[in-house]
Amino acid sequence: MINVTIWNEGRHEIESDEVRAVYPNGIHNCIKNFLSINDDLNIRTAVLDDTDNGLPDDVLENTDVLLWWGHMAHECVPDELVEKVYNRVMRGMGFIALHSAHFSKPFKRLMGTTCSLKWRDGDRERLWCISPNHPIAKDIPESFNIPVEEMYGERFDIPTPDEIVFMGWFKGGEVFRSGCCWNRGLGKVFYFQPGHESNPTYHIPEIQKIVTNAVYWVAPGKVIPEVECPWVPSLEEAYDGPNK
Ligand code: ZN
Repeated sequence: MINVTIWNEGRHEIESDEVRAVYPNGIHNCIKNFLSINDDLNIRTAVLDDTDNGLPDDVLENTDVLLWWGHMAHECVPDELVEKVYNRVMRGMGFIALHSAHFSKPFKRLMGTTCSLKWRDGDRERLWCISPNHPIAKDIPESFNIPVEEMYGERFDIPTPDEIVFMGWFKGGEVFRSGCCWNRGLGKVFYFQPGHESNPTYHIPEIQKIVTNAVYWVAPGKVIPEVECPWVPSLEEAYDGPNK
């Protein structure tokens, strides 16, 4: 089983009728619903206003894959929690940053750059799969339309990704590195651009498939209990010491 935690800020859905109309049970529960068809995923949800911001130590330690959606309350996420998430990724947890989580504290901590971009809501996007052999691209067409999505445009101030799986083209003319992969420590990180809160993006089958594929791709192989930097003796006893 893969333990998946879907973390959502969860504020737009409370404060906006428009957003609640699209995601009546919150973005986190929409994502949970489509991931739940997979029997090998053990899924929990968490929101910012839960106790311990939804991520007490035991939950974080027992999370293999953490999905993160945030926007209007990035600054309400405690720095101490951000360090715990960062450290957990270093030790092997997978991390998926969704849409406006480009500016979330954990993603920026993992990237080390500003993660700024250009934006404009109400555009149309054509999402291009440019790495069709990547596991996150499994069963995804070469391109498909997202009828209404927020434009995110370059330059996206991220470290050069290890792999770019998706490129977004917008009818206003901009392009964007919409699906990017990095390795950080023992953890894998995936950023995925579509998913503005007032657009029904997470109801689109191809989007659901990509998020699902990403969960499996970032799921950890090896996990270590803590990051160490130990002195070690030589393993090559026959060569122990000078000129032997
Ligand atoms: Zn947005």
